[in-house]
Amino acid sequence: MAFRQKHLLGIEPLHPEEIKTVLDVADTYVDLNRQSNKHSDALKGLTQINMFFENSTRTQASFELAGKRLGADVMNMAMQASSIKKGETLIDTALTLNAMHPDLLVVRHPHSGAVDLLAQKVNCAVLNAGDGKHEHPTQALLDALTIRRAKGRLHRLNIAICGDITHSRVARSNLILLGKMENRVRLVGPPTLVPQQFREFGCEIYDDMAEGLKDVDVVMMLRLQKERMDGGFIPSEREYFYRYGLDADKLAHAKPDAIVMHPGPMNRGVEIDGTIADDINRSVIQEQVEMGVAVRMAAMDLLARNLKAEREANNGVMV
Ligand code: ASP
Repeated sequence: MAFRQKHLLGIEPLHPEEIKTVLDVADTYVDLNRQSNKHSDALKGLTQINMFFENSTRTQASFELAGKRLGADVMNMAMQASSIKKGETLIDTALTLNAMHPDLLVVRHPHSGAVDLLAQKVNCAVLNAGDGKHEHPTQALLDALTIRRAKGRLHRLNIAICGDITHSRVARSNLILLGKMENRVRLVGPPTLVPQQFREFGCEIYDDMAEGLKDVDVVMMLRLQKERMDGGFIPSEREYFYRYGLDADKLAHAKPDAIVMHPGPMNRGVEIDGTIADDINRSVIQEQVEMGVAVRMAAMDLLARNLKAEREANNGVMV
């Protein structure tokens, strides 16, 4: 099996074959999720703990559902009410949880690198559910699955990632994944939100939507991450929508069959026009949510197989 990881901390360490394996397994879970009986025993007997230090709707719900459908015992830690608020360090919290023998730890944290650090301190599989501006690997994998199913392939596509690139872990993970799979990625947005150093990922940068969207197969819009902004990155939301918000006129520059994506949560009327977001002929935003559950099932299933294999090699001892 072409998936050798112990943790899923980012897209960076993944080989293209490993990405393909996750997507292939996820395809089987899409089928399962469309049945009345959605249960499998892949994580039976295992304990999954979700620790979200930052708000989440889709990601937390879909990790929870994914674990339950695979038969794990799933616990959601209420981090807002946890001892972190009393001054406990992230590492102490992790060690405390570790002593309860979880098998899978799903972590979202506002600081880049916090999830990697935590993974070094525990002896279970850790999944990064978004760390600061760094990575959000399951988002990039679910986006990849959505694109592969809509376009029939995941290579040699022209893809525009638009908007607030600076603050987006979604953009980083997608850039890395789409590059590994040999697509051409363009970044489109105002210079204040698209750092020039992103050229090192091998992508082109545009500050004009008409040019940036010309003939692309995929238009990926990003949320304006106001909570991560401490200065004036845009003149006003109205002006931003006028220049960079996706509406029918701007979308007309893309290929006629181009799909529209957004990781959510959406700011309607800021980065995307509501009618485009709801247009079932162009928008795959709901499919992204559906693929999210399947991809998270696949990622946890594959990590659990590696965990069990490692424990078996150690005669059943927790590693
Ligand atoms: N839900 C995604 C994330 O957690 C995108 C966003 O918040 O804009 O990064």
